[in-house]
Amino acid sequence: MVAELQRQVPLQGLNTFGLVAQADRYLEAASDAEVRAALALAQQLGVPLRVLGGGSNLVLPERVEGLVLRLTSRGIRLLAEEGDALLVEAEAGEPWHPFVMATLANGWYGLENLSLIPGTVGASPIQNIGAYGVELKDRCAGVTALDRHSGELHDLSPADCAFAYRESRFKTEAGRWIVLRVRFHLSRQPQLVLDYGPVRQALAEAGVTQPTPEAVSAAICSIRQSKLPDPAVLGNAGSFFKNPVVTAAVAAALQQRYPSLPTYPQADGTVKLAAGWLIDQAGWRGHRDGAVGVHAAQALVLVNFGGARSRDVLALAERIRASVRERFGVTLEMEPGSLT
Ligand SMILES: Cc1cc2nc3c(=O)[nH]c(=O)nc-3n(C[C@H](O)[C@H](O)[C@H](O)COP(=O)(O)OP(=O)(O)OC[C@H]3O[C@@H](n4cnc5c(N)ncnc54)[C@H](O)[C@@H]3O)c2cc1C
Repeated sequence: MVAELQRQVPLQGLNTFGLVAQADRYLEAASDAEVRAALALAQQLGVPLRVLGGGSNLVLPERVEGLVLRLTSRGIRLLAEEGDALLVEAEAGEPWHPFVMATLANGWYGLENLSLIPGTVGASPIQNIGAYGVELKDRCAGVTALDRHSGELHDLSPADCAFAYRESRFKTEAGRWIVLRVRFHLSRQPQLVLDYGPVRQALAEAGVTQPTPEAVSAAICSIRQSKLPDPAVLGNAGSFFKNPVVTAAVAAALQQRYPSLPTYPQADGTVKLAAGWLIDQAGWRGHRDGAVGVHAAQALVLVNFGGARSRDVLALAERIRASVRERFGVTLEMEPGSLT
């Protein structure tokens, strides 16, 4: 049985940017059967179905046409265990950070570097979330997703998901898949990833000499809290632009002109640049345009001071993109997107 269909539902409280937005139609689904019923209803109404998770990676338009479906399914389970190796599954509606905390509490290790990322388990494969040297793809064992075209359930392998930096098949085939469950390869044996950003330094400052996954999670939470604005206090969608990836030749030429430019060589020979550095150098940090602005402590984060609409955010984003392109010849790509 489908939950009650609601009309003209405000979404301001359901997106971390706090943008003023309204859904023409809105439903919640806590089970596969409810998701299928919602899909059938959208087809019957002749409107598109749009899946909403925690609303933390979105720039929502003022009017969201079609049927917005928020997944509220819950469940975390250990599916298999062999020696130290664990196979863990979680439902799409599980909030991500509490899920990571639950795995740590059970002694199931591997997700600690992804602590405190907002959003849901179901959205984690969409942009292959990543932080502090670990990406979802490094721990993902598979995804169960509903193909909206055929109505069939598929168990997709990590290879099927075509994960890449902030990318996946779910983005390239936007509008096709509804992620219902995600499986993870975890371990009872910690395998710590410490060599990224200030993780070791934060552990040292906390007086930790023998790091555990719990200590790494706590250190990463404190780094994140010191660097990123809390969406509950200041609306934002995290990193607003992806870190641009350029050829080695472009990176070398830029570094000659800007010796302090941070560069991150990739396995395939390309080089990742820090979008936040480029925006900062272009003079945008702390800039404010009415209701929107660039966070004073982190140039990669655009913020809503209150009452902002998508057009305000997109206009500021376009000005930033143009100025970075003009100054560095590098084109920035937005990370948050729309409901699909
Ligand atoms: C303060 C802050 C910090 C952040 N830090 C990071 C970070 O360190 N690393 C990182 O990678 N991201 C980060 N993000 C971005 C964001 O948290 C992630 O992208 C997260 O996975 C989005 O989850 P969500 O449930 O909020 O998705 P939503 O924002 O609700 O949706 C995002 C997209 O996924 C689609 N979608 C959602 N659920 C499903 C589903 N079950 N099936 C199919 N499609 C679905 C939506 O239609 C939409 O297109 C941050 C965001 C904020 C606000």
